[in-house]
Amino acid sequence: LPADFKRALPVLKEIEQAGYEAYFVGGSVRDHILGLPIHDVDIATSAYPEEIKEIFKHTVDTGIQHGTVTVLFNGSSYEITTFRTESGYQDYRRPDQVTFVRSLEDDLKRRDFTINALALDRNGDVIDKFDGLKDLDNHLIRAVGKAEERFHEDALRMMRAVRFQSQLDFKIETKTAEAISVNAHLLEKIAVERTREEFIKMMLGQAWQKGFANFLSFKLCDYAPGMKQHGSELDKLTNLNPIKFQDEDSVWAAIGFILKLSDSELNKLLRVWKVSNKTREVSLQIYEMLVLFADQKFSVWEIYNLGVDNFERTVKLCQLFNIEINYNQLSKIIEKIPIRSSHDLAITGNDLIKILNIKPGPEIGKILKNVEKSVVEENVSNNFDELKSYVLSNR
Ligand code: ATP
Ligand code: MG
Repeated sequence: LPADFKRALPVLKEIEQAGYEAYFVGGSVRDHILGLPIHDVDIATSAYPEEIKEIFKHTVDTGIQHGTVTVLFNGSSYEITTFRTESGYQDYRRPDQVTFVRSLEDDLKRRDFTINALALDRNGDVIDKFDGLKDLDNHLIRAVGKAEERFHEDALRMMRAVRFQSQLDFKIETKTAEAISVNAHLLEKIAVERTREEFIKMMLGQAWQKGFANFLSFKLCDYAPGMKQHGSELDKLTNLNPIKFQDEDSVWAAIGFILKLSDSELNKLLRVWKVSNKTREVSLQIYEMLVLFADQKFSVWEIYNLGVDNFERTVKLCQLFNIEINYNQLSKIIEKIPIRSSHDLAITGNDLIKILNIKPGPEIGKILKNVEKSVVEENVSNNFDELKSYVLSNR
């Protein structure tokens, strides 16, 4: 067993000693068998949340109504979830009602894909009720049970299918794929935030072009925010130079670029996808820088205003779109910019008020902006005395 599991073994033992069953489940088991690095180790148990809280001293009720308690143990934290079935699916969404059960098999049955329905006991033996090991071997994403029913229960699983396809570079098994094609419209019922999370995970995966191609061919895009009828334009992304996206911001910038959106249209798209304000801001900056590079006309001042920190990521997108730039020349120019933001200026608004003997007001802002531009364009160096005489001589 890898170290992460070994460290968690005492947790399983404690639960078993109290008379219950406990297993490692979900993504960590899948990734371990694939030989991939594992992140959070999830534990499933026959013990009810209250029973788990009696066994461990330090617990947090993270999602107790869904059966999840976080246990703090030897400096690590583990999510321990009671075996459960999900009942009463309404509107094709994840149910808010869960029923706790005492059988592992019932718990595994409600999981999305066979490769995610494996459990690992404390001896390192795999419990495989749905041929998940075979599907792992064959690189297949297959719904547990009847695909159609499973997507009716929770339509997000269709997004998860293309997400795992991209992350693992697996194929989606035929019947599962057909069921997605038939039920793609159910994605409309899913909260934007949940769709976005899977969408971004898909785009950040190694085989994103395959996952994205299916997102389009299954017509999931028609039921995702703001993408209806853009399938054929978006499809161009799947034929571009294969690069791996580094972050969500770059993904949105690339989508804006392939759709030839204006700044305000991209801004609107990002709002319907409910991306965070920070992500929206940076995505737009990268996008605007990419457009400047594509048009081959830009100034140092423009790049500076779009954020020197966004330069490398924009360069990466230039590779994706085959936009030629003179990287060495550009990075030299950017390195030479003496400041990163107006905060780095050697002179402040208060200094200007004293030096020029004027009242606080919009005038100060204008002068400061001018000074900033002159420093960025290296017409004056960023040094208090020089800036002072510069300001005085430009009165
Ligand atoms: P990751 O490595 O991205 O965390 P994961 O497989 O652990 O991948 P999670 O979203 O963390 O994915 O979910 C943990 C487990 O819970 C899954 O492996 C799966 O068994 C189950 N699961 C999660 N979401 C669903 C869902 N919508 N329907 C059914 N089962 C789900
Ligand atoms: Mg997980």
